[in-house]
Amino acid sequence: MKFASTRDAGSRTDLSTALIAGLAGDGGLHVPSTLPRFTPADFAADDSIAGVAARLLQPFFEGDPLADELIAICAEAFDFPAPLKPLPVGQTHLLELFHGPTAAFKDFGARFLAGCMQRLRTSVDAPLTILVATSGDTGAAVAAAFHGLANLRVVVLYPEGRVSPRQAHQLGCFGNNITALRVTGSFDDCQRLVKQALSDRELQADVALSSANSISLGRLLPQMAYYAHSALGHWRRTGAPLGFVIPTGNLGNALAAILARACGLPIGEIALATNANRVLAQFFAGANYAPMPSVATLANAMDVGAPSNFERLRWLYPDDHALRAAFAVHAIDDTTIRETIRNGLQGLGEIFCPHTACAVAALEKLRRGGATQDWAIVSTAHPAKFEQIVEPLVGRVVPPPKALADLLDRPAHAEPMASDYAALCTFLRQRE
Ligand SMILES: *Cc1c(COP(=O)(O)O)cnc(C)c1O
Repeated sequence: MKFASTRDAGSRTDLSTALIAGLAGDGGLHVPSTLPRFTPADFAADDSIAGVAARLLQPFFEGDPLADELIAICAEAFDFPAPLKPLPVGQTHLLELFHGPTAAFKDFGARFLAGCMQRLRTSVDAPLTILVATSGDTGAAVAAAFHGLANLRVVVLYPEGRVSPRQAHQLGCFGNNITALRVTGSFDDCQRLVKQALSDRELQADVALSSANSISLGRLLPQMAYYAHSALGHWRRTGAPLGFVIPTGNLGNALAAILARACGLPIGEIALATNANRVLAQFFAGANYAPMPSVATLANAMDVGAPSNFERLRWLYPDDHALRAAFAVHAIDDTTIRETIRNGLQGLGEIFCPHTACAVAALEKLRRGGATQDWAIVSTAHPAKFEQIVEPLVGRVVPPPKALADLLDRPAHAEPMASDYAALCTFLRQRE
Protein backbone atom coordinates (compact mmCIF):
# COMPACT_ATOMS: atom_id res chain seq x y z
CA MET A 1 0.00 0.00 0.00
CA LYS A 2 1.04 3.59 -0.56
CA PHE A 3 0.37 6.38 1.90
CA ALA A 4 -1.14 9.80 1.21
CA SER A 5 -0.77 13.04 3.15
CA THR A 6 -3.61 14.49 5.23
CA ARG A 7 -3.02 17.67 3.20
CA ASP A 8 -2.90 16.05 -0.25
CA ALA A 9 -5.13 13.02 -0.84
CA GLY A 10 -3.45 12.43 -4.22
CA SER A 11 0.14 12.16 -2.93
CA ARG A 12 1.74 8.72 -2.65
CA THR A 13 4.63 7.62 -0.41
CA ASP A 14 6.06 4.16 0.34
CA LEU A 15 5.61 2.87 3.86
CA SER A 16 9.38 2.60 4.42
CA THR A 17 9.95 6.17 3.26
CA ALA A 18 7.13 7.40 5.49
CA LEU A 19 8.58 5.53 8.49
CA ILE A 20 11.97 7.21 8.17
CA ALA A 21 10.64 10.66 7.22
CA GLY A 22 8.08 11.08 10.02
CA LEU A 23 6.13 13.99 8.52
CA ALA A 24 4.85 14.01 4.92
CA GLY A 25 6.75 16.27 2.52
CA ASP A 26 4.01 18.92 2.63
CA GLY A 27 4.03 19.05 6.43
CA GLY A 28 0.90 16.87 6.75
CA LEU A 29 0.65 13.42 8.35
CA HIS A 30 0.86 10.14 6.45
CA VAL A 31 -2.44 8.25 6.12
CA PRO A 32 -3.32 4.99 4.34
CA SER A 33 -4.46 5.63 0.76
CA THR A 34 -7.25 3.06 1.24
CA LEU A 35 -8.52 1.17 4.26
CA PRO A 36 -8.64 -2.64 4.06
CA ARG A 37 -11.91 -4.28 5.19
CA PHE A 38 -11.88 -7.31 7.45
CA THR A 39 -14.48 -9.54 9.05
CA PRO A 40 -13.87 -11.48 12.28
CA ALA A 41 -13.66 -14.69 10.20
CA ASP A 42 -10.46 -13.38 8.59
CA PHE A 43 -8.75 -13.85 11.96
CA ALA A 44 -10.10 -17.31 12.71
CA ALA A 45 -6.61 -18.79 12.91
CA ASP A 46 -5.02 -16.03 14.99
CA ASP A 47 -5.34 -15.96 18.72
CA SER A 48 -2.05 -14.29 19.66
CA ILE A 49 -1.59 -10.52 19.41
CA ALA A 50 1.42 -11.10 17.16
CA GLY A 51 -0.73 -13.22 14.84
CA VAL A 52 -3.57 -10.69 14.75
CA ALA A 53 -1.05 -7.89 14.16
CA ALA A 54 0.59 -9.64 11.20
CA ARG A 55 -2.79 -10.41 9.58
CA LEU A 56 -4.17 -6.91 10.18
CA LEU A 57 -1.05 -5.05 9.01
CA GLN A 58 -0.37 -7.22 5.95
CA PRO A 59 -2.38 -4.99 3.52
CA PHE A 60 -0.57 -1.88 4.81
CA PHE A 61 2.85 -3.51 4.20
CA GLU A 62 2.01 -5.05 0.83
CA GLY A 63 4.52 -4.06 -1.85
CA ASP A 64 6.97 -2.54 0.66
CA PRO A 65 10.50 -3.88 1.22
CA LEU A 66 9.46 -4.58 4.84
CA ALA A 67 6.57 -6.88 3.81
CA ASP A 68 8.65 -10.07 4.06
CA GLU A 69 9.78 -9.08 7.55
CA LEU A 70 6.33 -8.24 8.92
CA ILE A 71 5.73 -11.55 10.70
CA ALA A 72 9.14 -11.38 12.39
CA ILE A 73 8.68 -7.71 13.36
CA CYS A 74 5.28 -8.52 14.92
CA ALA A 75 6.69 -11.51 16.80
CA GLU A 76 9.44 -9.33 18.29
CA ALA A 77 7.26 -6.33 19.13
CA PHE A 78 4.29 -8.24 20.55
CA ASP A 79 6.13 -10.64 22.85
CA PHE A 80 4.31 -9.53 26.00
CA PRO A 81 0.59 -9.81 26.72
CA ALA A 82 -2.24 -7.24 26.61
CA PRO A 83 -4.86 -9.02 28.72
CA LEU A 84 -8.52 -8.04 28.67
CA LYS A 85 -9.45 -8.46 32.29
CA PRO A 86 -13.13 -8.66 33.30
CA LEU A 87 -13.89 -6.37 36.26
CA PRO A 88 -16.43 -7.33 38.89
CA VAL A 89 -18.77 -4.50 37.85
CA GLY A 90 -21.18 -5.42 35.05
CA GLN A 91 -20.11 -5.34 31.39
CA THR A 92 -16.79 -3.70 32.17
CA HIS A 93 -13.27 -4.86 31.32
CA LEU A 94 -9.77 -3.50 31.72
CA LEU A 95 -7.45 -3.69 28.71
CA GLU A 96 -4.02 -3.78 30.36
CA LEU A 97 -1.41 -2.28 28.06
CA PHE A 98 1.36 -1.95 30.66
CA HIS A 99 3.10 -5.32 30.59
CA GLY A 100 6.01 -4.16 28.41
CA PRO A 101 9.54 -3.12 29.43
CA THR A 102 8.64 0.43 30.53
CA ALA A 103 5.14 -0.35 31.84
CA ALA A 104 3.16 1.89 29.44
CA PHE A 105 1.29 1.23 26.19
CA LYS A 106 3.94 3.13 24.21
CA ASP A 107 6.17 0.03 24.41
CA PHE A 108 4.09 -1.63 21.67
CA GLY A 109 4.54 1.14 19.10
CA ALA A 110 8.15 1.91 20.04
CA ARG A 111 9.22 -1.73 19.72
CA PHE A 112 7.45 -2.14 16.40
CA LEU A 113 9.02 1.05 15.05
CA ALA A 114 12.46 -0.09 16.25
CA GLY A 115 11.99 -3.42 14.46
CA CYS A 116 11.18 -1.58 11.22
CA MET A 117 14.01 0.97 11.51
CA GLN A 118 16.56 -1.71 12.33
CA ARG A 119 15.71 -3.53 9.11
CA LEU A 120 15.69 -0.37 7.01
CA ARG A 121 19.22 0.62 8.02
CA THR A 122 22.05 -1.32 6.44
CA SER A 123 25.51 -1.51 7.96
CA VAL A 124 26.94 0.84 5.32
CA ASP A 125 24.51 3.64 6.22
CA ALA A 126 25.72 6.38 8.54
CA PRO A 127 24.30 5.96 12.05
CA LEU A 128 20.75 7.30 12.33
CA THR A 129 19.92 9.41 15.37
CA ILE A 130 16.36 9.23 16.66
CA LEU A 131 15.59 12.51 18.37
CA VAL A 132 12.78 12.45 20.93
CA ALA A 133 11.26 15.08 23.19
CA THR A 134 9.39 13.51 26.06
CA SER A 135 7.19 14.41 29.00
CA GLY A 136 8.06 10.99 30.40
CA ASP A 137 6.65 7.83 28.85
CA THR A 138 7.55 8.18 25.16
CA GLY A 139 11.26 8.66 25.77
CA ALA A 140 11.54 5.63 28.02
CA ALA A 141 9.65 3.37 25.61
CA VAL A 142 11.77 4.51 22.66
CA ALA A 143 15.00 4.18 24.65
CA ALA A 144 14.11 0.65 25.77
CA ALA A 145 13.08 -0.37 22.25
CA PHE A 146 16.22 0.95 20.49
CA HIS A 147 18.73 0.06 23.20
CA GLY A 148 21.64 -1.97 21.79
CA LEU A 149 20.55 -1.75 18.12
CA ALA A 150 23.45 -1.30 15.70
CA ASN A 151 23.73 1.91 13.69
CA LEU A 152 20.88 3.53 15.56
CA ARG A 153 21.16 5.87 18.47
CA VAL A 154 18.58 7.74 20.50
CA VAL A 155 18.85 11.19 22.03
CA VAL A 156 16.02 11.94 24.48
CA LEU A 157 15.31 15.48 25.68
CA TYR A 158 13.24 15.84 28.83
CA PRO A 159 12.38 18.84 31.02
CA GLU A 160 14.49 18.56 34.16
CA GLY A 161 12.39 18.34 37.33
CA ARG A 162 9.11 17.98 35.42
CA VAL A 163 8.98 14.23 34.92
CA SER A 164 8.44 11.83 37.82
CA PRO A 165 11.64 10.57 39.51
CA ARG A 166 10.98 7.06 38.23
CA GLN A 167 10.43 8.37 34.71
CA ALA A 168 13.73 10.28 34.89
CA HIS A 169 15.49 7.18 36.12
CA GLN A 170 14.11 5.12 33.25
CA LEU A 171 15.34 7.68 30.73
CA GLY A 172 18.87 7.70 32.08
CA CYS A 173 19.40 4.02 32.86
CA PHE A 174 20.23 2.64 29.42
CA GLY A 175 23.54 4.16 28.31
CA ASN A 176 25.30 2.78 25.21
CA ASN A 177 23.48 4.12 22.16
CA ILE A 178 20.95 6.01 24.32
CA THR A 179 21.65 9.50 25.69
CA ALA A 180 19.29 11.34 28.02
CA LEU A 181 19.53 15.15 28.03
CA ARG A 182 17.94 16.90 30.99
CA VAL A 183 16.94 20.27 29.61
CA THR A 184 16.53 23.38 31.73
CA GLY A 185 13.07 24.24 30.44
CA SER A 186 9.56 22.91 29.81
CA PHE A 187 8.37 20.03 27.66
CA ASP A 188 7.37 22.60 25.03
CA ASP A 189 10.99 23.85 24.97
CA CYS A 190 12.22 20.29 24.40
CA GLN A 191 9.71 19.75 21.62
CA ARG A 192 10.66 23.05 19.97
CA LEU A 193 14.35 22.09 19.95
CA VAL A 194 13.56 18.69 18.41
CA LYS A 195 11.27 20.19 15.76
CA GLN A 196 13.89 22.77 14.84
CA ALA A 197 16.55 20.08 14.43
CA LEU A 198 14.26 17.86 12.36
CA SER A 199 13.66 20.70 9.90
CA ASP A 200 17.29 21.91 9.81
CA ARG A 201 18.80 20.75 6.50
CA GLU A 202 22.26 22.08 7.29
CA LEU A 203 22.43 20.04 10.49
CA GLN A 204 21.08 16.97 8.73
CA ALA A 205 23.82 17.17 6.12
CA ASP A 206 26.15 16.27 9.01
CA VAL A 207 23.91 14.15 11.23
CA ALA A 208 21.22 11.77 9.91
CA LEU A 209 18.12 12.43 12.04
CA SER A 210 14.73 10.82 12.43
CA SER A 211 11.94 11.00 14.98
CA ALA A 212 9.75 8.59 16.90
CA ASN A 213 6.91 10.79 18.10
CA SER A 214 3.27 9.79 18.12
CA ILE A 215 2.64 10.91 14.54
CA SER A 216 4.93 8.12 13.27
CA LEU A 217 3.05 5.51 11.23
CA GLY A 218 5.42 2.97 12.73
CA ARG A 219 3.79 3.58 16.11
CA LEU A 220 0.22 4.22 14.97
CA LEU A 221 -0.31 1.10 12.83
CA PRO A 222 0.81 -1.54 15.36
CA GLN A 223 -1.35 0.02 18.09
CA MET A 224 -4.39 -1.21 16.12
CA ALA A 225 -3.38 -4.77 17.01
CA TYR A 226 -4.32 -4.81 20.70
CA TYR A 227 -7.72 -3.31 19.94
CA ALA A 228 -8.31 -5.88 17.22
CA HIS A 229 -7.08 -8.74 19.41
CA SER A 230 -9.20 -7.88 22.45
CA ALA A 231 -12.32 -7.03 20.42
CA LEU A 232 -12.06 -10.29 18.43
CA GLY A 233 -11.69 -12.32 21.63
CA HIS A 234 -14.71 -10.59 23.14
CA TRP A 235 -16.72 -11.09 19.95
CA ARG A 236 -15.95 -14.80 19.89
CA ARG A 237 -16.96 -15.21 23.52
CA THR A 238 -20.11 -13.06 23.52
CA GLY A 239 -21.12 -12.11 19.97
CA ALA A 240 -21.11 -8.45 21.04
CA PRO A 241 -18.87 -5.60 19.95
CA LEU A 242 -16.56 -4.12 22.58
CA GLY A 243 -16.44 -0.37 23.23
CA PHE A 244 -13.29 1.38 24.44
CA VAL A 245 -12.77 4.35 26.76
CA ILE A 246 -9.31 5.69 25.94
CA PRO A 247 -7.12 8.08 27.96
CA THR A 248 -6.15 10.63 25.31
CA GLY A 249 -3.48 13.27 24.80
CA ASN A 250 -2.05 13.40 21.29
CA LEU A 251 -4.77 11.03 20.00
CA GLY A 252 -2.27 8.40 18.84
CA ASN A 253 -3.69 5.55 20.88
CA ALA A 254 -7.31 6.54 20.22
CA LEU A 255 -6.71 6.92 16.50
CA ALA A 256 -5.47 3.33 16.35
CA ALA A 257 -8.80 2.14 17.82
CA ILE A 258 -10.71 4.34 15.38
CA LEU A 259 -8.74 2.95 12.41
CA ALA A 260 -9.24 -0.64 13.60
CA ARG A 261 -13.00 -0.05 13.76
CA ALA A 262 -12.94 1.55 10.29
CA CYS A 263 -11.26 -1.64 9.02
CA GLY A 264 -14.25 -3.71 10.14
CA LEU A 265 -13.12 -5.03 13.53
CA PRO A 266 -16.00 -5.67 15.99
CA ILE A 267 -15.47 -2.49 17.99
CA GLY A 268 -18.46 -0.63 19.42
CA GLU A 269 -18.42 2.92 20.71
CA ILE A 270 -15.15 4.75 21.29
CA ALA A 271 -15.06 7.38 24.05
CA LEU A 272 -12.12 9.70 24.63
CA ALA A 273 -11.08 10.67 28.15
CA THR A 274 -8.80 13.68 28.50
CA ASN A 275 -7.45 15.45 31.56
CA ALA A 276 -8.14 19.15 32.26
CA ASN A 277 -6.63 20.09 28.89
CA ARG A 278 -9.94 20.84 27.23
CA VAL A 279 -9.09 21.41 23.59
CA LEU A 280 -10.90 18.26 22.41
CA ALA A 281 -13.79 18.60 24.86
CA GLN A 282 -14.44 22.14 23.60
CA PHE A 283 -14.32 21.12 19.95
CA PHE A 284 -16.67 18.19 20.53
CA ALA A 285 -19.03 20.49 22.42
CA GLY A 286 -19.35 22.53 19.23
CA ALA A 287 -16.60 25.18 19.39
CA ASN A 288 -14.12 25.73 16.58
CA TYR A 289 -10.91 23.72 16.90
CA ALA A 290 -8.59 25.99 18.91
CA PRO A 291 -5.22 24.66 20.13
CA MET A 292 -4.13 26.24 23.41
CA PRO A 293 -1.11 26.09 25.72
CA SER A 294 -1.13 22.92 27.80
CA VAL A 295 -1.79 22.97 31.53
CA ALA A 296 0.01 20.65 33.96
CA THR A 297 -2.14 17.87 35.46
CA LEU A 298 -1.68 14.64 37.42
CA ALA A 299 -1.97 12.72 34.12
CA ASN A 300 1.17 14.35 32.70
CA ALA A 301 1.51 12.17 29.60
CA MET A 302 -1.78 13.70 28.43
CA ASP A 303 -0.85 17.36 29.02
CA VAL A 304 -1.43 18.34 25.42
CA GLY A 305 -2.90 21.58 24.13
CA ALA A 306 -2.67 20.77 20.41
CA PRO A 307 -3.21 17.01 19.82
CA SER A 308 -0.79 16.11 17.04
CA ASN A 309 -3.04 13.45 15.50
CA PHE A 310 -6.11 15.69 15.27
CA GLU A 311 -5.31 16.23 11.60
CA ARG A 312 -5.73 12.49 11.01
CA LEU A 313 -9.09 12.50 12.79
CA ARG A 314 -10.27 15.23 10.42
CA TRP A 315 -8.99 13.29 7.43
CA LEU A 316 -11.17 10.33 8.52
CA TYR A 317 -14.15 12.58 9.29
CA PRO A 318 -13.92 15.62 6.97
CA ASP A 319 -17.31 16.84 8.18
CA ASP A 320 -17.14 18.37 11.68
CA HIS A 321 -20.75 17.46 12.46
CA ALA A 322 -20.14 13.82 11.58
CA LEU A 323 -16.92 13.86 13.62
CA ARG A 324 -18.66 15.28 16.69
CA ALA A 325 -21.44 12.71 16.36
CA ALA A 326 -18.95 9.83 16.16
CA PHE A 327 -17.28 10.14 19.59
CA ALA A 328 -17.93 11.25 23.12
CA VAL A 329 -15.18 13.23 24.87
CA HIS A 330 -14.96 13.65 28.63
CA ALA A 331 -12.48 16.05 30.27
CA ILE A 332 -11.57 14.90 33.78
CA ASP A 333 -10.06 17.34 36.28
CA ASP A 334 -7.39 16.55 38.88
CA THR A 335 -9.88 16.44 41.74
CA THR A 336 -11.82 13.71 39.96
CA ILE A 337 -8.60 11.86 39.08
CA ARG A 338 -7.67 11.81 42.77
CA GLU A 339 -11.14 10.66 43.85
CA THR A 340 -11.15 7.95 41.22
CA ILE A 341 -7.77 6.58 42.30
CA ARG A 342 -8.83 6.73 45.95
CA ASN A 343 -12.12 4.92 45.27
CA GLY A 344 -10.44 2.20 43.20
CA LEU A 345 -13.61 1.44 41.23
CA GLN A 346 -16.45 1.30 43.72
CA GLY A 347 -14.19 0.21 46.55
CA LEU A 348 -13.08 -2.97 44.77
CA GLY A 349 -9.41 -2.25 45.38
CA GLU A 350 -8.40 -1.83 41.72
CA ILE A 351 -5.44 0.56 41.47
CA PHE A 352 -5.21 2.88 38.47
CA CYS A 353 -2.53 5.22 37.14
CA PRO A 354 -3.68 8.87 36.81
CA HIS A 355 -4.21 8.47 33.02
CA THR A 356 -6.25 5.31 33.35
CA ALA A 357 -8.23 7.04 36.13
CA CYS A 358 -9.46 9.56 33.52
CA ALA A 359 -10.95 6.70 31.51
CA VAL A 360 -12.47 5.13 34.62
CA ALA A 361 -14.12 8.43 35.55
CA ALA A 362 -15.35 8.92 31.97
CA LEU A 363 -16.93 5.45 31.96
CA GLU A 364 -18.59 6.14 35.30
CA LYS A 365 -20.18 9.20 33.67
CA LEU A 366 -21.28 7.17 30.67
CA ARG A 367 -22.81 4.52 32.93
CA ARG A 368 -24.66 7.18 34.93
CA GLY A 369 -25.99 8.43 31.59
CA GLY A 370 -27.46 4.98 30.93
CA ALA A 371 -24.77 3.27 28.82
CA THR A 372 -25.25 -0.48 29.34
CA GLN A 373 -23.06 -1.96 26.60
CA ASP A 374 -19.77 -3.84 27.02
CA TRP A 375 -16.88 -1.44 27.53
CA ALA A 376 -13.17 -1.83 28.08
CA ILE A 377 -11.28 0.79 30.05
CA VAL A 378 -7.91 1.17 28.34
CA SER A 379 -5.22 1.04 31.01
CA THR A 380 -2.27 2.90 29.52
CA ALA A 381 0.32 2.65 32.31
CA HIS A 382 1.07 0.70 35.48
CA PRO A 383 0.23 2.71 38.63
CA ALA A 384 3.73 2.08 40.07
CA LYS A 385 5.14 4.44 37.42
CA PHE A 386 3.36 7.27 39.23
CA GLU A 387 3.81 6.06 42.77
CA GLN A 388 4.21 9.57 44.21
CA ILE A 389 0.64 10.37 43.17
CA VAL A 390 -0.96 6.97 43.61
CA GLU A 391 0.50 5.60 46.86
CA PRO A 392 -0.70 8.41 49.19
CA LEU A 393 -4.20 8.09 47.69
CA VAL A 394 -4.54 4.34 48.07
CA GLY A 395 -2.63 4.27 51.37
CA ARG A 396 -0.19 1.55 50.48
CA VAL A 397 2.93 0.76 48.51
CA VAL A 398 2.34 -0.21 44.88
CA PRO A 399 5.14 -2.60 43.90
CA PRO A 400 6.54 -2.05 40.41
CA PRO A 401 6.25 -4.92 37.91
CA LYS A 402 9.48 -6.86 37.39
CA ALA A 403 10.54 -5.20 34.14
CA LEU A 404 10.20 -1.75 35.69
CA ALA A 405 11.93 -2.84 38.91
CA ASP A 406 14.88 -4.13 36.85
CA LEU A 407 15.27 -0.73 35.15
CA LEU A 408 15.05 1.09 38.48
CA ASP A 409 17.89 -1.10 39.81
CA ARG A 410 20.31 0.11 37.14
CA PRO A 411 22.40 3.26 37.64
CA ALA A 412 21.12 6.27 35.70
CA HIS A 413 22.84 9.26 34.14
CA ALA A 414 21.55 12.26 32.19
CA GLU A 415 23.57 15.10 30.69
CA PRO A 416 22.56 18.68 31.43
CA MET A 417 21.63 20.92 28.52
CA ALA A 418 20.46 24.51 28.30
CA SER A 419 17.24 25.12 26.39
CA ASP A 420 19.33 26.45 23.53
CA TYR A 421 19.32 25.27 19.90
CA ALA A 422 23.02 25.98 19.29
CA ALA A 423 23.93 23.79 22.30
CA LEU A 424 21.86 20.91 20.90
CA CYS A 425 23.52 21.22 17.47
CA THR A 426 26.99 21.21 19.03
CA PHE A 427 26.09 18.13 21.04
CA LEU A 428 24.72 16.25 18.03
CA ARG A 429 27.72 17.13 15.82
CA GLN A 430 30.27 16.16 18.50
CA ARG A 431 28.76 12.74 18.74
CA GLU A 432 29.29 12.06 15.03
C1 LIG B 1 1.16 8.85 26.03
C2 LIG B 1 0.20 8.42 27.08
C3 LIG B 1 -1.18 8.69 26.96
C4 LIG B 1 -1.75 9.48 25.81
O1 LIG B 1 -1.67 8.78 24.58
P1 LIG B 1 -1.88 9.58 23.20
O2 LIG B 1 -1.57 8.58 22.16
O3 LIG B 1 -0.89 10.72 23.23
O4 LIG B 1 -3.28 10.06 23.16
C5 LIG B 1 -2.02 8.19 27.94
N1 LIG B 1 -1.56 7.52 29.00
C6 LIG B 1 -0.24 7.26 29.15
C7 LIG B 1 0.22 6.51 30.35
C8 LIG B 1 0.69 7.70 28.21
O5 LIG B 1 1.99 7.44 28.38
